[in-house]
Amino acid sequence: MRFKKLRILSSILCLLSSSFLFSQNNDSITLRHIFNEALSDTTSYNNLRYLCMKIGGRICGSPQADQAVQWTKKVLEGMDLDTVFLQEMNVRKWVRGEEEVILMPLKAKGYNLRACAIGGSVGTGEAGITSRIIEVYDFDELKKLGREKIEGKIVFFNHPADPAVYYTFGAYGGVAKYRVYGATEAAKYHAKAGIVRSATLAHDDFPHTGVMHYADTLEKIPALAISTNDADKLSKDLIKDPDLNIFIRMANSEQPEAKSYNVIGEIRGSEHPEEIIIFGGHLDAWDNGQGANDDGSGVVQTIEVLRLFKTLNLKPKRTIRVVVFMDEEMDQRGAKAYAEYATGKSHAPLPNSGFKIPKTENHIAAIEADRGGTTPFGFSIDATDEQLQKIKSWKELLYPYGIYSFEKGGSGVDVGKLKPLGTALIALVTDSQRYFDYHHSPNDTFDKINQRELQLGSFSVAALVFLIDKYGL
Ligand SMILES: [Zn+2]
Repeated sequence: MRFKKLRILSSILCLLSSSFLFSQNNDSITLRHIFNEALSDTTSYNNLRYLCMKIGGRICGSPQADQAVQWTKKVLEGMDLDTVFLQEMNVRKWVRGEEEVILMPLKAKGYNLRACAIGGSVGTGEAGITSRIIEVYDFDELKKLGREKIEGKIVFFNHPADPAVYYTFGAYGGVAKYRVYGATEAAKYHAKAGIVRSATLAHDDFPHTGVMHYADTLEKIPALAISTNDADKLSKDLIKDPDLNIFIRMANSEQPEAKSYNVIGEIRGSEHPEEIIIFGGHLDAWDNGQGANDDGSGVVQTIEVLRLFKTLNLKPKRTIRVVVFMDEEMDQRGAKAYAEYATGKSHAPLPNSGFKIPKTENHIAAIEADRGGTTPFGFSIDATDEQLQKIKSWKELLYPYGIYSFEKGGSGVDVGKLKPLGTALIALVTDSQRYFDYHHSPNDTFDKINQRELQLGSFSVAALVFLIDKYGL
């Protein structure tokens, strides 16, 4: 009797494992097809070329951002999807204006520093600002100097990013706060302006911009970034002459808000159309570069996921949807608008959407590609332990394609807004070593993107979407 039971049990196990092996086999064949197509077709690379070279920098509210929206919509419309539509929202319109000037009028030989206004900063007015400059290493030092030493001066935050951090996003995180809050902290002590060393590990001549925030209760003072080479130079000059005066002129301004859009396209699920898997990058990019790594790459890679499904005739059970977000850089209005829609808070009409009642939708996973177009190696996953384990169970299938890291961690600024829904939030993780050489600077151009590395990213997202669609999460 006991033997009989055992035999039945073992044959059930045998059956289960062979069907598991069979489906793993099938999956590896499908993934191989996806990989072959992703790595031999150049559509996404050509799309990126257009976005970078023909449209260029496209900060929200700019004519280039409008152009990028229309272009993305056209690309999606050409893909025979079930739905393509624009989701409207208002965005800030910050305009740089004439090129910034920082002049170091040294007695012997004056020179210009390579500078750029930080996004959201006020300008100086045409007359500019001339004042003494005072260097600080961090907020603690600023506080110690206090109003007595800071008042009326231009504060220079010279805090280099830490080269000893392996994953460079960590090093960036350690210094970005001086860009974001430096001018506001300096304003507490009545400084006239804030200058920050660019948030990059590179030693070069590119100033890096990014967003900054003011406090309502404090004076809004101008904020600029200078290149790391010029930060070193300025620091040396200040040692030689601590009484240096500096001249700043910035013509940037904040205009009335403008209308803009997320661009959305999808293939509707054949069995569970109400279960949604989204993936996307952000369409806006700083005006001083081409937004190739940040985040043209993520945009074209996630659009490519839909092309791969269409071309290979993979029919998803669940709805798979690309969300090309507007305004990640300034205020995440696109992400906020999408989250309002997804949580059912906003039922603003979505033109030509063909959607039924949004409340019935269930976002099961959201994947963001916004860490540059370099070689991917895994995913950072903000989800339950069970979901993480499930994704890890696909490791063997993805390992042959260089995807080996599946860690619990942060996802991305745009998909992060879906957190209240309990959606599994996932970021494509890429080799970070070169990313901040380009990030938010005139160096973020199309020629820095390697076609194969870009294609590997498209494959990685498509493969994960395929597995989540097939097995759920
Ligand atoms: Zn980005």
